[in-house]
Amino acid sequence: MTADNTILDDLLRMSRRAGERFDLVQAGGGNTSAKLPDGKMFVKASGLRLSDLNSEKAFVLIDNLKLREKVLTVNWNSYDKKEKEKISAEIVATLNLTPDRRPSIETLLHSYLDGFVLHTHPVQVTALFSQKNAKQKTKELLPDSALVFYQTPGVELALEMMQARETYINENQKEPTSYVFQNHGLVTCGKSWEDAFRNTNEICLRLSEFTKINFTDDRIVNTISEAMEKVTSESWVTLYVPGCESNQNSIQQKPFFPDGVVFLGILPLLLKSTDQSILENQIQDYLKIHTIVPRAFILEDKMYFTGKTYMKARESEEVWRMHHIASQFRPDALSDEELKYLSHWEAEKYRQKV
Ligand SMILES: [Zn+2]
Repeated sequence: MTADNTILDDLLRMSRRAGERFDLVQAGGGNTSAKLPDGKMFVKASGLRLSDLNSEKAFVLIDNLKLREKVLTVNWNSYDKKEKEKISAEIVATLNLTPDRRPSIETLLHSYLDGFVLHTHPVQVTALFSQKNAKQKTKELLPDSALVFYQTPGVELALEMMQARETYINENQKEPTSYVFQNHGLVTCGKSWEDAFRNTNEICLRLSEFTKINFTDDRIVNTISEAMEKVTSESWVTLYVPGCESNQNSIQQKPFFPDGVVFLGILPLLLKSTDQSILENQIQDYLKIHTIVPRAFILEDKMYFTGKTYMKARESEEVWRMHHIASQFRPDALSDEELKYLSHWEAEKYRQKV
C-alpha cells in the first residue's frame, strides 16, 4: 500500500467515525481533509454525508501548495462578499485535479491547516459558543483554542480563521490546537487521523462538564463500527437510536419475514461490554453461529443499527420497529433452511453481478 493510499484510508475512516456520531455531525454537515507529502490535498467532495465516505471518489484532489500561494496574492479587503466568493471559487476550480467533482465549500479553510483536518458541528460547541460572549468563554473553557467570529461559510469564514490564528498567537505566543467557530462548530487537526479525532472528542467531553449534556450512548457507535470493520475488513456506519424499543419477545424472536433477515441478521447482538476487543470476539462468535454479521445491537436497553451507509442503517431501524411490534403476536419464525438461504441472498446477488 502506498503512503497516499494509507492517508486516504485514514481519512475515510476519520470521516465515517465523525459522520456516524449525532453529537458531532447532523445531516450533511461537517467536512474533512488530509495533506499528501507532495503538497496536494484530499478534501471532501460537496454533497455527501461524512458517514458514507468509502472510496477515493468521495474526495477532490487539490494542488494545495499553489492554492495557499494564490490565496495570499489576493487583496481580499478590496472586494465585497459576492466578489470574494466568485474569486475563491475560480481559484479552487483551476487547481482542482479531479474536475469532475466539486470540493467542499470550506476548501480554503482546510487548505490553511496542516495534516488531517476535521470540521464538525458538535452540539456542545454550538450550545455554548452561539452568544456574544463567545470569545471570553473560549478563553475560560478552551484556552488552547482560537475563537473565530461568525462569518458565512466559505471564503469569509476561512479569512476570519486566519485572522483568529494571528490574534491568538499574538495573545498567547503559541499556536492554537483547535478553532471554535462562533454560531457554527469546531475544527481540529493533527498529524494522524487519531490525533484530530481525539482532539475533537476531548473538547466535547470537556464541554459536557459545562452543558451537563452527556453523549456517552452516542459515542458507542464508534466502538461498534470499528469492531465490525476489524472483523469484516469492510466499511460500516452505526447509528444510535434513542428511545428505540425492544423487549424479551422481540430480542429472542428469529426473523419471520424476509426483510427481517436481510436488514437485521438472525438475532440482535447483546453487547457484554463497551470494550472493543470483547465486542470483536462477540461478532466473530455470532458470525460462526449464524454465518452473517449482526445488524442490530443492544446495550442495556439502548439500540444501535449498522449498515453500509447511513440510509441502510436507518432502514434497519425501520425494519426493527416492524419486527418489535409484530413480535408481540408470537409469529412463527421462517425455517432454518429459509433463514440460511435468505441470509446469503444479498451476497449471492452481488457475486452474480461481479
Ligand atoms: Zn460547518
